Amino acid sequence: MPEFRRVDIISDPAFLEHVTGRDHPESPERMTAILERLDRSPFAFSIRRVAPRSVEREFVSSVHNEAYLFRFEETCLSGREYFMHPDNRVCYETYRVALLSAGACLTGIDLIEDEGPALPFCCIRPPGHHAEAGLALGFCFLNNVAIAARYWQTRYGRRRIFILDWDAHHGNGIQEVFDEDPDVFYASIHEHPTFSFPGTGYADEDGNGAGKGATLNIPLAPGSGEREVLDALSCRVAPAIEAFGPEAFIVAAGFDGHVLDDMSGLSYTTRLYGQIGTYMSAWAERYCGGKVLTVLEGGYHLEALASSVEAYLAGLSMKV
Ligand SMILES: [Zn+2]
Repeated sequence: MPEFRRVDIISDPAFLEHVTGRDHPESPERMTAILERLDRSPFAFSIRRVAPRSVEREFVSSVHNEAYLFRFEETCLSGREYFMHPDNRVCYETYRVALLSAGACLTGIDLIEDEGPALPFCCIRPPGHHAEAGLALGFCFLNNVAIAARYWQTRYGRRRIFILDWDAHHGNGIQEVFDEDPDVFYASIHEHPTFSFPGTGYADEDGNGAGKGATLNIPLAPGSGEREVLDALSCRVAPAIEAFGPEAFIVAAGFDGHVLDDMSGLSYTTRLYGQIGTYMSAWAERYCGGKVLTVLEGGYHLEALASSVEAYLAGLSMKV
């Protein structure tokens, strides 16, 4: 029988209140599918549910500009159906729920810093990695991961943060925020931008100015699966982590690379997400006392999403 470390699932019924309308892939049902699956998982007994707090304005403002935030809030409260692009559906509650989604990441960091070996998984929506300082994109409004990285630095003095993003799509928003920042390393494995939204994340995008070299993009051809991802992790990501020397990890965990998920042409298996969890656990232990915050991004095939989250968290929390 494998043994598991405790996992803290940070979620809230309020995440169901960001209503995106019929047939929108970024649906409230995503939350329900994940949480019901985890309740039945082999490590259900080691899961603790934690309620998130809302993010304070100062931390949202560390990433997004005031004009953008004002416009986002006003759009939701005025009853419009989308913000900036028809993909980005909103309702009256969306602004409040987005603040809670970002706040969940801060709650996770507080757990890690206050309780020692915590393993928080932020089961949140709306997602964040496409949101730029002044741009909503790809169902994302507030860049949860970027806000979390700034919070970790400011509140706890963890200066060197390594972000690993293995959503099927490139996290243009995270890259934009930290493009010239040498202290936050952004590594992304995604479907090649020639074939995939949002069209950024070419291999030669490696940061600018003082941040040159602190961005690593690994685009994969459509059809790529276990072998390509495991090669990328061991041959490209591992040396980057070693050279960078992180004080904390943040994982932008998107599950839309799954072979059953039609939002990408990638062919990831459920098993692969378990293997990625094992990598993350080993790296976090080796480099920074186990400090790893995992934040949900994409993943739209409900059954594949739920089983892949379960596999990832099993890999992350299994004692070796
Ligand atoms: Zn995605």
